[in-house]
Amino acid sequence: MPNVLITGASRGIGAATARLFAREGWDVALNYNKSQMEAEALAAELSELGVRAAPIQADVSVPEQAERLVREAEAALGPLDAVICNAGIALPQQLLTDTTPEQWRRLMSANLDGMFYVLKAAIPGLVRQKRGAIVTVSSMWGLTGGSCEAPYSAAKAGVIGLTKALAKELGPSNIRVNCVAPGVIATDMNAHLSPEDLSALGEEAPLCRIGRPEEVAQAVVFLASDRASFITGQVLSVDGGMVI
Ligand code: NAP
Repeated sequence: MPNVLITGASRGIGAATARLFAREGWDVALNYNKSQMEAEALAAELSELGVRAAPIQADVSVPEQAERLVREAEAALGPLDAVICNAGIALPQQLLTDTTPEQWRRLMSANLDGMFYVLKAAIPGLVRQKRGAIVTVSSMWGLTGGSCEAPYSAAKAGVIGLTKALAKELGPSNIRVNCVAPGVIATDMNAHLSPEDLSALGEEAPLCRIGRPEEVAQAVVFLASDRASFITGQVLSVDGGMVI
C-alpha cells in the first residue's frame, strides 16, 4: 500500500483529501496543529476502511516540529510515497497598509515557511527511494493576486514558485512536484462569510457556485497518484473556471 503525509489534515480540504486517499487504499499520516479531536476522529474513521491512519500533532511553521512530523510519519508508515503540503491560514481581508509585520510573518510562516520546513525534512527520504510525489496547495490568489489579500497572495505565489523550482530540481530523482490552486471552497476558512456573500462569490465563476473540499481532493489525489505519472511542475486550478 502506498502512503502519504498530509499537512493540515484535521479539517477542510486536508481532511477531504485524507478521506479520498484512504478510500483509494493509501495509508495516511494526518498532521494537525490545534484540532486534535477532529484529527483523532478522522483517524478512527479512516482505520475503519482498513488503512493505517496516524494523527500527528505539529505546527509546521516551527522547523523542529516540521522535522519531527516527517520523522514520526516515516516511523508510523515507513518511507513516504507522497507528501501533500496543504496546511494554511488566511488573514482578515484588509489593505496592505493596515497589515502589521506580525500578521505578515504569521501568514508567511504558516503558508510558505511551513512548506519549506516539511519538504526539507521529507525530500531526502524520497530521493533515497528515487520516487515520490509532492502536491502543494496554493490558491487562485497566488495566480492572480487578490485585492486586500496581499500577504496571502504573496505566500501563495511563493508556493507556485517553490513547486516549479522543485519540479526541476527533483525530476531527475523521479519525484514529481505539482500544485493545486483552489478557488472559493466551502471550508472553515470561509466560514466568516455570510451565505449571501458566498453565493455572490460563486456567481463570479463560470460554473456559478463555490466548490466543495472533496472536489479539490480529487485533483490532489490524482496528481499524487501514478495516474499523473508524466505530469510535473503544473498548477491545476480547481476553481469553477474563476481563473481562465
Ligand atoms: P481550513 O478548513 O481552515 O483548515 C486549515 C487546516 O490547516 C487545518 O487542518 C489546520 O489545522 C491546518 N493548519 C493551519 N496552520 C497550521 C500549522 N501552522 N501547522 C499545521 N497545520 C496547520 O482551511 P482549508 O480551506 O481546508 O485550506 C486548506 C488549504 O487550502 C490552505 O493552504 C488554504 O490556503 C488553501 N485554500 C483554501 C481555499 C478556500 O476557499 N477554502 C481557497 C484556496 C486555497 P488545525 O485546525 O489542527 O490547527
